[in-house]
Amino acid sequence: MDKILQGVRRFHRDIFQAQRPLFEKLVHAQSPRALFITCSDSRINPNLITQTEPGDLFVVRNAGNIVPAHGSASGGESATIEYAVAVLKVKHVILCGHTQCGAMKALMHSEKARDLPAVRGWFAHAETTRRLITENFGSLTPEEQVPLAIRQNVLVQLDNLRTHPSVAVALSRRELQVHGWIYKLETGEVLAFDPELGQFRSVLEDEVPTEPNAPAASTSPLPPGSNGSHLADYVGAHSSGLFAGGQSDGQ
Ligand SMILES: [Zn+2]
Repeated sequence: MDKILQGVRRFHRDIFQAQRPLFEKLVHAQSPRALFITCSDSRINPNLITQTEPGDLFVVRNAGNIVPAHGSASGGESATIEYAVAVLKVKHVILCGHTQCGAMKALMHSEKARDLPAVRGWFAHAETTRRLITENFGSLTPEEQVPLAIRQNVLVQLDNLRTHPSVAVALSRRELQVHGWIYKLETGEVLAFDPELGQFRSVLEDEVPTEPNAPAASTSPLPPGSNGSHLADYVGAHSSGLFAGGQSDGQ
């Protein structure tokens, strides 16, 4: 606890004072750039990996970056999503899973959650993920299934997200884009789901300079996100895409 308290004092003394104009501005209002939904895992720091400031990200965190479908739970996730989209009018929702996710490991190894009734209940909102992986990749070991489950779960939870009325309305008006991400603990890289390709791709690929005469399809940057229109079609129909985008490097 000493480390945390020392950090609080250091923040107030060094950081808050140095960035006082930013913090004073944030006293009066917030206008976040995105709603960022991710896992509670301590190894993920949304502001750090996106190099954003206080006020930039409205954040929802829980075990497994899960979004209960509309009407299936009355927890804080639904209220937070509704407030971010309908009141704060965020333009983007980023749903970010991550490699080595303990929640996804427990989802695919049900015995790990045997004595955790609250966790088991929570995983009901990820049952579609578990079923898609066990039924489509049943020949793989649970260890091999986990990296696929991490990716599949991002897509399943994006579909759940779209069942929320505030999200559906904003998508229909093209006022909102949803993005599926995987943060790789091993490399610090972010993979983003490209609905046109049906695959996750590194966002670092966007930095590759365009060849003057190269075909557009091979050089155009990754779309900044999806309006969600392809995601429902994706789940279960393009499972091969789960293998692409660096899956082999030890998720
Ligand atoms: Zn996790």
